[in-house]
Amino acid sequence: MNSPQPKTVKKGEEFAHAQPIANALANSASFRSWFVAQTQFFADADCQSMHQAIKDRRDSEFWWRHLYRVCPCDGCIGGREVDIFNVFYKEPKDRFAVHIEVKHAGDDLDLDQAKRYKPRAECWMKKPWKKIPPHSRATTVLLYSKARVDDWKSLLPHFHEHISFETIWSQHPDLLEATNAIRSLQAEAKISKANRSL
Ligand SMILES: [Zn+2]
Repeated sequence: MNSPQPKTVKKGEEFAHAQPIANALANSASFRSWFVAQTQFFADADCQSMHQAIKDRRDSEFWWRHLYRVCPCDGCIGGREVDIFNVFYKEPKDRFAVHIEVKHAGDDLDLDQAKRYKPRAECWMKKPWKKIPPHSRATTVLLYSKARVDDWKSLLPHFHEHISFETIWSQHPDLLEATNAIRSLQAEAKISKANRSL
């Protein structure tokens, strides 16, 4: 799979979980198709990614990450961020957005965060804005750790789809390898920072 290492890594488990998935959605046709097949847009699984258009608009290596809109609606208010965002299409005129929330085992999910996802997806679809390609459909996906599913069970209905990291990694072990590679880079960065401060 085409899985380039990020040029720079951000700290934290959320980044280590999210970056390989965002990258594979953009650059691996087979992973993208598998992932979209888990959603309500399964009929469009064989689709193209619009990440380049988002990258051009955001001008960042981390084009997929922490996108938010300044907007007073219930979904956006307070600069609420989407962990991974991308737009895809099978037919160029029928684009769909995927809003992904990343929750690893060490993180927390609360109602206030969960309940923003669907209204925000609606807002970005119905009121197009400059940072993202216009689209006519949108879905929201919670990526979660199975270890925490009991804690988060009541919040699952706030997302259209739920996929566990364990499911992703069992089907796509290269993504777990990529997550582990990022963890190693994060540990090295931490050590060199600590050494510099000695
Ligand atoms: Zn809004």
